[in-house]
Amino acid sequence: MAYKTTYPYTGEVLKEYSNATEQDLEQALTTGHALYKTWRDSPVSERAALLHQIAGLMKERKEELAQAMTYDMGKLLTEALGEVDLCIGIVEYYAQNGEKFMESVPVESPAGRAYYAKQSTGVIVAVEPWNFPLYQVVRVFAPNFIVGNPMILKHASICPTSAQLFADLVIDAGAPKGALTNLFISYDLVSKAIHDPRVAGVCLTGSERGGASVAKEAGEALKKSTLELGGNDAFIVLDDADFDKVKEVAPGARLYNAGQVCTSSKRFIVMADKFDEFVANLKEGFANAKMGDPMDPETVVAPLSSKSAQEKLQKQVDTAIANGATLVYGNEPVKGDGFFFQPTILTDITKDNPIYNQEMFGPVGVVYKVNSEQEAIDLANDSSYGLGNTIFSSNREHAQKVAEQIETGMSFINSGWASLPELPFGGVKNSGYGRELSELGFDAFVNQHLVFEP
Ligand code: NAP
Repeated sequence: MAYKTTYPYTGEVLKEYSNATEQDLEQALTTGHALYKTWRDSPVSERAALLHQIAGLMKERKEELAQAMTYDMGKLLTEALGEVDLCIGIVEYYAQNGEKFMESVPVESPAGRAYYAKQSTGVIVAVEPWNFPLYQVVRVFAPNFIVGNPMILKHASICPTSAQLFADLVIDAGAPKGALTNLFISYDLVSKAIHDPRVAGVCLTGSERGGASVAKEAGEALKKSTLELGGNDAFIVLDDADFDKVKEVAPGARLYNAGQVCTSSKRFIVMADKFDEFVANLKEGFANAKMGDPMDPETVVAPLSSKSAQEKLQKQVDTAIANGATLVYGNEPVKGDGFFFQPTILTDITKDNPIYNQEMFGPVGVVYKVNSEQEAIDLANDSSYGLGNTIFSSNREHAQKVAEQIETGMSFINSGWASLPELPFGGVKNSGYGRELSELGFDAFVNQHLVFEP
């Protein structure tokens, strides 16, 4: 496995890194475990102060962090800068709330006095994907740092520069060695780490295949795991939706980050009487979205993260069309060396089309026509994924009632997807288990230690 930065806008290899060895892993485990033992007895306020310092240094190094992400996986620099801001917010959120979240919780019992103390559990292995190189790391690093769980990071092999930059920043900000160790390790060494007794758990964000593999190792080793996997989120336009708002939001809900977001709106579900107008608007939005240099603030659609991502998406679109889908817009080759994919719209995807239940990780929107609200709900739920969805209705109670009928971990009303430090993030079904961010994410690798006296 080669860890390297290949700039998706030019195809040029900018940096290559050597793989970490078994000795590097052993060193990281030793350092991390020693830190865990020290942190167990040190006040949470010390770690909260360090997190504030980390947030401060992130502000100073914002441009550098953002540019590294653009070079690693091609995202727009404007989006990368926004990602750094979001991550600073996450770090500050846990710095501010960490002490409160760590407080013991009283338990009411008629049989005696009871409470549970919150305690750290040990080194956590984090396996993360490339689509938000900083955010994916920060949303597990910040809560575990406050808890007192050191972290070993195995980041995606295509974004090594972003990974190392953040790990270095954590140490430069004053955090102890071992708080976050980035290792360019193979899958075998990830497995070895999971089985090591000094490791308490593993979290993975990524594909179903990667998730199943890591969860299998965790199961064999009897380690706790959390999985944040793919999605095929529905964007449901109800009869009473504010259609101007729908038209404004829909293109961006698919095109942000070149469509490479687990919670992107991937399936647009629209009532029959609005279908043609919706498709025409989406087509206009896609056609006007300028593809090009990710460093140019005018660009709307960046290249995909890699050549293989481009090839995989092309294969999926070809399969969809070969199995009866109608190509409404796009799917034309984009000239140049960049790994671009033209924003594309497909309709008439039937249940027997292999693409019906596949996540397309790029700027491809599928639009479905339905005749009733129940049909919309049934279609949204007819998926092996259960990450998020978006519902448009000008009646809040109506939207909430529909939201609660969708089998997902998150619903967004009258907006595209959102991620904020205080909102729990995660899914059900094949989209994984567990939650990240918020107080729920904080508790993921905490020992809730009961103390009871009858
Ligand atoms: P992926 O192939 O599963 O890779 C994700 C990470 O897992 C990478 O670091 C990868 O390393 C590693 N990995 C994969 N298989 C592994 C194994 N057997 N052992 C150890 N590590 C392994 O996922 P991807 O396709 O790049 O990422 C996109 C997917 O992530 C999409 O499905 C997207 O929806 C999902 N995602 C979900 C969320 C969420 O919060 N639910 C957020 C973002 C993305 P290498 O890079 O070295 O292969």
